[in-house]
Amino acid sequence: MPQTDFLNFDSLLSPEELQIRDVAQQFVRERVLPVIEDCYERGVYPTEIIKPMGELGFYGCTLPEEYGCAGLNNIAYGLITQELERGDSGVRSFASVQSSLVMYPIFTFGTEEQKRKWLPALAKGEKIGCFGLTEPDYGSNPSDMATRAERTKYGWKLNGAKMWITNGSIADVAVVWAKTGADARSIRGFLVEKGTPGFSAPEIKKKHSLRASITSELIFQDCEIPEENILPNVEGLRGPLSCLNQARYGIAWGAVGSALATYATALAYSLSRIQFGKPIASFQLTQRKLAEMITEISKAQLLAYHVGKLKDAGKVTPAQISMAKRNNVAMALEVAREARTILGANGISAEYPVMRHMNNLESVLTYEGTHDIHTLIIGAEVTGIQAFK
Ligand SMILES: Cc1cc2nc3c(=O)[nH]c(=O)nc-3n(C[C@H](O)[C@H](O)[C@H](O)COP(=O)(O)OP(=O)(O)OC[C@H]3O[C@@H](n4cnc5c(N)ncnc54)[C@H](O)[C@@H]3O)c2cc1C
Repeated sequence: MPQTDFLNFDSLLSPEELQIRDVAQQFVRERVLPVIEDCYERGVYPTEIIKPMGELGFYGCTLPEEYGCAGLNNIAYGLITQELERGDSGVRSFASVQSSLVMYPIFTFGTEEQKRKWLPALAKGEKIGCFGLTEPDYGSNPSDMATRAERTKYGWKLNGAKMWITNGSIADVAVVWAKTGADARSIRGFLVEKGTPGFSAPEIKKKHSLRASITSELIFQDCEIPEENILPNVEGLRGPLSCLNQARYGIAWGAVGSALATYATALAYSLSRIQFGKPIASFQLTQRKLAEMITEISKAQLLAYHVGKLKDAGKVTPAQISMAKRNNVAMALEVAREARTILGANGISAEYPVMRHMNNLESVLTYEGTHDIHTLIIGAEVTGIQAFK
């Protein structure tokens, strides 16, 4: 049995956390792994798993039971995302968007009516959500966004476009961030429902990464939004950034799952692949690669766990979450690349999950704050000097 829990990480987990992790792991083994390579090749999301994931309580799992959610702690949430991304970053992305970028802002900034209308249905996977922040011309600096919401007699009129939006084309509701005035302090969140006149969400095709995930544009042309669809309890960039904080935390765990998948594949392969009359695992250079991989994975998992404990205690800072996202995604990409070399030519084959994970991680490195932007967030935290501009 390949060694993947080198530091006995499981000993840190409660029986309930272990059980949740195992349920998610079993789900991925039975429902994701058998179909994901084919979905990836065809560039489609396995929509048949959306509701079963809801039935297992994977969406918005830290939110309270009164809204149909599981009320779990952040370690359990992290373990679920770890297991989902062990399957594919696209599956984890679906759950991250639904949970952290759609359910979280509705729960945190929405009216009671909005919560009752959307949260139970989103939790069950009966409704799908997306999050529109990035625009064609504004990615790392969303404060300059061009999308505008103007007041009308009955609510708001939305004009503009969002780009690279996960789940956009299949979403029933889009959480869209737009300026209502001249500067970033006027940014507000709107719930834009599917079918609203003036709203369209064409899918972005021809991707080399996150192929088993739907990515879309959101286009708003004089799109009328009723007053009851504005999120009333937040203004400014704090709204979207607090959502991203939730999602980035999940990504820190998800990256560990991806790395565990590529590491386990490389380890098993190295033990069975014979060259020069012996397993390639017996060569010192291969062992060095494996030793580096499991060391970095183990450190990353402890980092995610510690940040999760701080989060549960209400003490985590955005910069700490940046550190975990930045480190763990870069780690997973490095592990995937090393795993690819251990598999030789087979490393590029869809018979093995390694290159799919590697390509996916190129997106994960960029979205939810690029690696560089998280470097600057940590830099600003330690020096007290912002180097963004
Ligand atoms: C598959 C996928 C799914 C996505 N899903 C969503 C989604 O659901 N919702 C959503 O809103 N967005 C989504 N995004 C968008 C993502 O969040 C953005 O791509 C990301 O924020 C970076 O923006 P950009 O691509 O415009 O790059 P840019 O901001 O143009 O950055 C380009 C390069 O310049 C660097 N750079 C920028 N500013 C600085 C600086 N001040 N100092 C140093 N370097 C800098 C960046 O690090 C990067 O290397 C998704 C992206 C992808 C690829």
